[in-house]
Amino acid sequence: MTASPFATLDDLDVDNRRVLVRVDFNVPLTGDGQVRDDTRIRGALPTLTTLRERGAKLVVCSHLGRPKGKVVPSLSLEPVGARLAELLSVDVKLADEVVGDGVTKLVTDARAGEVVLLENLRFSPGETSNDPKLAQALAALADAYVCDAFGACHRAHASVVGVPQLVGERAAGRLLEAELRSLSRLVTAPQRPFVAIVGGAKVSDKLGVLMALVERLAAGDTVVIGGAMANTFLAASGRELGASLMERERQNDARIVMTKAAARDIRVILPTDLLVGEGIDAPNARLHDVLAAPLGDAEMALDIGPATAKRCAAAIADAAMVLWNGPMGLFENPAFAEGTLAVARAVADCPGYCVVGGGDSVAAVSQSGVADRIDHVSTGGGASLEFIEGKTLPGVAALHRTQD
Ligand code: ADP
Ligand code: MG
Repeated sequence: MTASPFATLDDLDVDNRRVLVRVDFNVPLTGDGQVRDDTRIRGALPTLTTLRERGAKLVVCSHLGRPKGKVVPSLSLEPVGARLAELLSVDVKLADEVVGDGVTKLVTDARAGEVVLLENLRFSPGETSNDPKLAQALAALADAYVCDAFGACHRAHASVVGVPQLVGERAAGRLLEAELRSLSRLVTAPQRPFVAIVGGAKVSDKLGVLMALVERLAAGDTVVIGGAMANTFLAASGRELGASLMERERQNDARIVMTKAAARDIRVILPTDLLVGEGIDAPNARLHDVLAAPLGDAEMALDIGPATAKRCAAAIADAAMVLWNGPMGLFENPAFAEGTLAVARAVADCPGYCVVGGGDSVAAVSQSGVADRIDHVSTGGGASLEFIEGKTLPGVAALHRTQD
């Protein structure tokens, strides 16, 4: 039996010690700055609760959005801290900066079981540049380091890579462990038929995983392509899609994906019917047959149509394993949500092993109310994609035990 390459919470002595926990509280916010979906906050609760029960002084840190190294008040972790306090039923002390004298005092004054939340890590320019000064300042707040921020593990940032190199004791949190366990199953023990559903905004975000899938899947497996991404694929085969969101410069990549899939007898499901509207706020959808005619100049393809949703659901029903990343349409607008919700229900009903990843996909799944019937809802978008692609995640590598 090989030992785990990294320590877990059970290997740490945390009683009355300061534990810096890097979590991923990069949650979607509503227009008025409230937490729109708290899946990622809930995801960190097992780790935070375990550490509190064991007497740790918690110093919790996360990024939120892209403030680009400046203080952006609308991206304060304040609403996140409020939700965390509700979920943990304890007081959460929000620091007003990432590091500094005030933070040091808050942490020094903390007692066993208390929770300090640092302000948005990306308010500091040193986070994304992995500045050693920021890493040192964060490490100085901690006797031990725990990473539970699966969603940030594909980034070599200060709080993810710099800090664990400086803190003597480090471990993976419960969420990180669960994420790696679930996603590893898809990579190392794929079961067939395997159905991969890839949607969302851009081909360029998901091209790596699409290429990896068409190189790894086999005859009888299926790749469903939906969302705005599908527009690029449809355009690559000559369809006129009006004002639809698409990436013309990715059409050739789309053709490569199709050719590779065909060479391996992987079935690709592309939309044959679409719901279209004049702009993203269109109150109503028009059903459009992809083969019938071009879209109007002002029309956008904003969801898959019912016939396509039905073909997807049929493929999903027979799957032994499902990986889903990226919504099928602009589900934020109720007129264009049904394709995504239909896929969510099909995945929930599938008896096979099903994993959903991607921030917006996860929000759609929780909106559909079926999240608890899905084997694993990943909190990591980009990180889960890179893991599936077979890349080493820097944040996971940084936790590895040193050879001595
Ligand atoms: P995830 O976060 O799950 O990885 P993405 O970020 O790639 O997903 O894409 C999600 C976004 O893509 C959503 O905001 C959704 O509204 C948008 N989207 C999906 N399909 C379309 C479409 N046909 N036209 C415009 N936007 C779309
Ligand atoms: Mg997204």
